[in-house]
Amino acid sequence: MPLTLPQIRRNCNRARERMKQAREEHWAFGAFNLDDEATLKAVCQAAANKKAPVLVEVSQGEVDDLGLDNVRDMVENFKYAFGVEIYINLDHSPSVDAAKRGIEAGFEFIHIDISQANHEASDDQIIAATKEVVAYAKLTGALVESEPHYFGGGSNFFNKQIDYDEIKKTFSTPEGAKHFVEATGIDTYAAAIGNLHGKYPVPKILDLELLKRIRQAIDCNISLHGGSDTPGHYFREAVQIGVTKININSDMRFAYRTTLEQLLKEHPDEYSVSKLISKDVVTAVQGVVESKLDDFNSSTKALVPLSG
Ligand SMILES: [Zn+2]
Repeated sequence: MPLTLPQIRRNCNRARERMKQAREEHWAFGAFNLDDEATLKAVCQAAANKKAPVLVEVSQGEVDDLGLDNVRDMVENFKYAFGVEIYINLDHSPSVDAAKRGIEAGFEFIHIDISQANHEASDDQIIAATKEVVAYAKLTGALVESEPHYFGGGSNFFNKQIDYDEIKKTFSTPEGAKHFVEATGIDTYAAAIGNLHGKYPVPKILDLELLKRIRQAIDCNISLHGGSDTPGHYFREAVQIGVTKININSDMRFAYRTTLEQLLKEHPDEYSVSKLISKDVVTAVQGVVESKLDDFNSSTKALVPLSG
């Protein structure tokens, strides 16, 4: 059953309040990628077990595959089945229109990423498109997230070393962040401080001194994308500095695939693959989510039970 506009507004308002609270109390929402029903179940079980508030997120690929309304309904059903505090983020939405559809579908968090679809988009184009989404989000009160330029990496495993000198060129600057936040009116700034999409053979290094200077320069929420393969101490320090949303995808997919490969090897006669997935694969992905919830200091922070 689709949510009504008042219900959507109530959810968005709660999400907004909770982000504020997260910053005051120094914890962050984990934003976990939703690939399928099994990953959603893994996130919900982890959230229930740890009593942690969570976000699940879908990018355009999952939107095309699952459908916005279907995602909204699935998450709504799981929310009440598991009794968890959960919100949805539309991640890396490639166009203003796609972001508007996410707002209408009742997603509480909208990440508009014009440079994802067009790496050559100008600053003015990115600012204009982001402002349009910020204005449209007033319809429901959804929180809008963005950043001034393209993020490196991708949601996959990369067999190359990280070239920090190259990556440093794409880092956020406090002045750039301030200008972008003031020009667009976004709710959440996606900072680039060494975080990078995907898994790499060497652990990532986050520039926490830069993060502190960005925190001082802007007053909105700060998110970190590309959280996979990052040593946990960086997250624990980042939430103390004031990060309130951290995206995780590749670590979950890695656990999903490697566990499934092992199970298929161990059970050559089992043709109900979903049976294998629903037990051990879900448990493996849940383990990844739970360890992140501890790193993000969000365990025990859930509002449970939710009212309305
Ligand atoms: Zn991302």
